[in-house]
Amino acid sequence: MSLSTAVLTLIMALSCALQFLAAGLAIRLIRSSGFFSAWILLACGFIVQGVRRFVALAHILEGQIQGDMSIEVFGLVISVFMLCGIIKFKPLFEEINHSRQALLEKQNKLSHANQELEAFVSTVSHDLRNPLTVIIGYAEHLRQVCASKLDKQELDCLREIESQGGKMTALMEDLLVLSRVGYVERPVEPEDTASIVKDVLEELGVQLAEGGITIQKADLPKLHVPETFLSEIFKNLIGNAIKYACKENASIEIGGERQGNSVRYFVRDHGPGIPEDETGRVFEMFYRGLSQKQSNGTGVGLAIVQKIAQLYGGRAWVEETDGGGSTFWVEMKEETDPGS
Ligand code: ADP
Repeated sequence: MSLSTAVLTLIMALSCALQFLAAGLAIRLIRSSGFFSAWILLACGFIVQGVRRFVALAHILEGQIQGDMSIEVFGLVISVFMLCGIIKFKPLFEEINHSRQALLEKQNKLSHANQELEAFVSTVSHDLRNPLTVIIGYAEHLRQVCASKLDKQELDCLREIESQGGKMTALMEDLLVLSRVGYVERPVEPEDTASIVKDVLEELGVQLAEGGITIQKADLPKLHVPETFLSEIFKNLIGNAIKYACKENASIEIGGERQGNSVRYFVRDHGPGIPEDETGRVFEMFYRGLSQKQSNGTGVGLAIVQKIAQLYGGRAWVEETDGGGSTFWVEMKEETDPGS
C-alpha cells in the first residue's frame, strides 16, 4: 500500500468513526430529550454518511476506485464540525430535559393536590348532605304524622325547615360541581330572576317586616345562569343591605338592565355606605368591614358574589348611592348575544 493510500485510509477511517460517534451521541440525546423525530433524522443522517464512507473505504482498499485526498480531508473536517456541534448542543438539551422533568414533577404534584381537594370537598359535602337529608326527612315526617296536633304556625315552621334544607342541598350540589369544574353549565332556558328575587324576599320576610323595610323592585331581566347562583347573589346583597344599611323604615331598591350581551343587576341601599378605602376589599374572601366586626358574618358573601359574576364573564362592584349608601352591581354575560 502506498503512503498516500495509507493516509487516505486513515483519514476515511477517522471520518467514519467520527460520524458513528456523532450518531451515538445523537441517539443518546433522542432518548433523554424526547425530541424524537428531529434526533432520529439527525442520527440517521450521520449513520448513512458513516456507512457511505465505510463502503467507499472498502472499495478503495480493494482497488476498485481511487480516493480523492482533498475531498476526504474536506469530509473529515465536516465530520469534526458535526461532532463539535452535537457536543456543543448537549448541555442545552440536557437543560431542556431537566426543565421538562421539573415541569412534569410540578404537574404531578398539582394534579395530586387537586385530587386531594376534590376528595376533601366531596367528603365535606357528603358529610353535610347526610345530616341535612335526615333533618328534612324528620321535618316532613313530623308535618305529616303530627298534622292534627300542630297549629298553622308550627306546620309553617316545619315547611320552612324542609324548604330551606332543600335549597341548601341544591346549593351544595352546585358548589360541589363548581369546585370540580369551576363552572356549572348554563340552564337551557333563561332563569326568571324576578321570581328568584321574590323567593329571596319571602325568605327574608321576617327581617324585612321587623325593620319596616320597604322594597322597590324595578325590571329584572332573565338570564341563562343557574337559579341557585342567582338566588345566592341576591340573598347576599339584600341580606347585607338589611344587615348593614337599614335603620327603621328604610328602603332597598332592586333592579337590572340588559345591555346587549350583558345583564346588570343592582341592589341599592341608603345606609352608611362603605369607606372609600374598603370598596375594593369587601369582595375579598374573609374580608369584614372594619366597623362591622361586632355584627355576625364570615366575610365570604361578597367573595361568592364576585366569583359567580366572574364565572359568567362579568364582575361585581360597589358604588356610592346618590345622597349616601351603597349600590352593589353584578354584571354577567350571556353565552351568545340573543340578538345575533
Ligand atoms: P359579611 O357580611 O359576612 O361580613 P360580606 O362578604 O357579605 O361578608 O361583606 C363584607 C363586608 O362588606 C362586610 O363586613 C361589610 O363591612 C361590607 N358591606 C357589605 N354590604 C354592605 C352594605 N350594604 N353596606 C355597608 N357595608 C357593607
